[in-house]
Amino acid sequence: MWITNAGFADTLVVFAKIDNDRVLSAFIVESKYPGVVIGPDEHKMGIKGSSTAQIYFNDVKVPVGNLLGKRGEGFRIALSILHMGRLKLGANVLGAAKKAINDSVKYANERKQFGVLISTFGAIKHKLAEQVIRLFASESAVYRVSNDIDSLMKKLTVDCGDYGRASIEAISHYAVEAAILKVVGSEMLDFVADEAVQIHGGMGYSAEMMVERAYRDSRINRIFEGTNEINRLLVVDTAMKRAMKGEFDLFGEAAKLWEGLATVSDGKTDNEDYFTRKKRYLSNFKKLILLCMHGAAKHFEKNLINEQEVLNNLAEMMMETYVTESLALRVEKLASLKGDVSLYRDMLDVNIADTANIVRKSALDAVCTFCSSENCADLHRAVEVLTKVGCVNVKDARRRIADKLIGDNSYKF
Ligand SMILES: Cc1cc2nc3c(=O)[nH]c(=O)nc-3n(C[C@H](O)[C@H](O)[C@H](O)COP(=O)(O)OP(=O)(O)OC[C@H]3O[C@@H](n4cnc5c(N)ncnc54)[C@H](O)[C@@H]3O)c2cc1C
Repeated sequence: MWITNAGFADTLVVFAKIDNDRVLSAFIVESKYPGVVIGPDEHKMGIKGSSTAQIYFNDVKVPVGNLLGKRGEGFRIALSILHMGRLKLGANVLGAAKKAINDSVKYANERKQFGVLISTFGAIKHKLAEQVIRLFASESAVYRVSNDIDSLMKKLTVDCGDYGRASIEAISHYAVEAAILKVVGSEMLDFVADEAVQIHGGMGYSAEMMVERAYRDSRINRIFEGTNEINRLLVVDTAMKRAMKGEFDLFGEAAKLWEGLATVSDGKTDNEDYFTRKKRYLSNFKKLILLCMHGAAKHFEKNLINEQEVLNNLAEMMMETYVTESLALRVEKLASLKGDVSLYRDMLDVNIADTANIVRKSALDAVCTFCSSENCADLHRAVEVLTKVGCVNVKDARRRIADKLIGDNSYKF
């Protein structure tokens, strides 16, 4: 079911079991083979330019030479495709979001209410600025992961001499990041498209406007390439499994922090410069993630896998922190390349303030499921200390970002 491009594809990659194999194999099947039947295109909510149909396989004979990879390698191949698909989805939504922002600002610069342009209203500026900040932050994470994969791919190609294998290994290595990009990107686009409709008021609900289509088209991204629920679980599960394999010392670090729980501090030092301060905040969010992981694993033990709400809390903290860190790295790099980065710093200021709140809420939700009378007060104190960020006038910061967008009448960041 739900096969993209089914209506016109000549070649299909099909995953199935040979005889009574426990695991899947992958096959190259041509749509003209006898027994392959393509159903009619589905009537979908959006992405109507994309063909989606069911494919039926009635005793289809597949030549032995059409086995893709080796017998039993199907799941591995499918996973590689999924990792790649998630990365591409994370990049794809950036273009759709830029289009929706451009439609939003153009409309806000034309529509008058109460005798003035709606782009002069603070409530509309808030929406425009939030659209820009969330897009810019997601884009920063996409650039970061892409560069990380490129670098690893080059290194592995030199090591093993096989570009294809090196690509698969490099992409698989960043499976957690791919899941993060998929979830964060799809939810960013949903937010941007939803606010684009809202900025258009009643006209946003009219099928005459592009934003109506953007709203419907956006929705699928949270469903395909693994639903966001599944990807959230994957973020935590994959990170923990890799740590168990010894790829990085997550549990050792977490145990050390847990021992010092009663005396945890925010690490503030005198005369911190701008980026040092931001990095300290991010480092504190990470410490809190480790504390929550340790506390949850200790309390629920093997049963943690069944506590999806807690896993979601951990995933939320990890994803938000990763994206904000990517934004911070990008702004720091921009600062080293050009003089005035004040608007980008505004974005980072607003984003870190929001991330601190999300991390704080997710951590509190998680902590209350596993804390005991001995550690409850210390854990609550740690949540407050490690999510403390300096006061920022986010209203003025958002207005400055919106004013640049409104002045340019298109997205130029
Ligand atoms: C337009 C479109 C194009 C597609 N293209 C392709 C394609 O080309 N190739 C392809 O292989 N697939 C394709 N798909 C399939 C798509 O990947 C699946 O629809 C998607 O992964 C969700 O699976 P499902 O529909 O079976 O939902 P279900 O698995 O029934 O999910 C229903 C709900 O339950 C939740 N859920 C399910 N399991 C769990 C769990 N273990 N824990 C917590 N929550 C859970 C889900 O998150 C969701 O909210 C496409 C789908 C659509 C709509």
